[in-house]
Amino acid sequence: MNLIREIVKSKVVTAIAKSNNNKNSCVICGLPIKKDNFCEHHYSAYIKLKEKYNEWAKAYLNLSFEKYIKKVISIETTGKWIKEVGEYLLKSGGVDEN
Ligand SMILES: [Zn+2]
Repeated sequence: MNLIREIVKSKVVTAIAKSNNNKNSCVICGLPIKKDNFCEHHYSAYIKLKEKYNEWAKAYLNLSFEKYIKKVISIETTGKWIKEVGEYLLKSGGVDEN
């Protein structure tokens, strides 16, 4: 009985430690978080990515955020940080229309 309780307790502790870790480090590179689960570099890349989408969406009607991201990361001159954020958003399914 005590053993089971100990095991349960240790699982809970591990889960909390993991979620704390997720909250404090960038989901892409592990650096400390600035905002929205991204570090300083990836957060500013994320903002740029969203701003550019607004511009593109005006020029290309019916351009979904997902299609846009795929296009942006396929462009050779797109910056490293932006590509990493784009790939992360596609993988995580974080490409809603907002
Ligand atoms: Zn990062």
